[in-house]
Amino acid sequence: MSVIPKLRGHHLICLHFFNGKGYNREFTENLRCVLEKAENLGVEVSVGADDVCRGCPYMRDKKCCSEDHSNQEIIEMDEFALKLLKEAFDSKLGWNVLKEKIPAIFHLWLERYCKRCCWTNACEENLYYLGLRDGKNTF
Ligand code: SF4
Ligand code: SF4
Repeated sequence: MSVIPKLRGHHLICLHFFNGKGYNREFTENLRCVLEKAENLGVEVSVGADDVCRGCPYMRDKKCCSEDHSNQEIIEMDEFALKLLKEAFDSKLGWNVLKEKIPAIFHLWLERYCKRCCWTNACEENLYYLGLRDGKNTF
């Protein structure tokens, strides 16, 4: 039986723009699998490391070690994402319900995070992302 995937706050936003890029093959395969389950089953909001982090080479002892201080920064990013989406840590959500919330909050996310994110180039290959960024999206 499939288990509802758990996603941390910022992944509830960023994963809508996944375009096949990631740290390595294991990471992207796991991410694809998590996304497929999210689309079919919905998601549960995770506090801290989630089912995407589980396949990440930068997770150590359930902490994000991608850069100095990254764990605390990622926690703050999660909190901001949940505040924008108005979701609580113990929520269960449909993936499409989440997706419908993205256009209204995207400009705030773009200003605060996308403009200094190392994954911007990858997200800019995603047409949905570009449409939201350029204010042309009608999804
Ligand atoms: S461990 Fe850090 S870099 Fe890896 S997926 Fe989780 S938040 Fe992202
Ligand atoms: S550019 Fe970075 S912060 Fe913005 S949606 Fe993409 S991964 Fe998330």
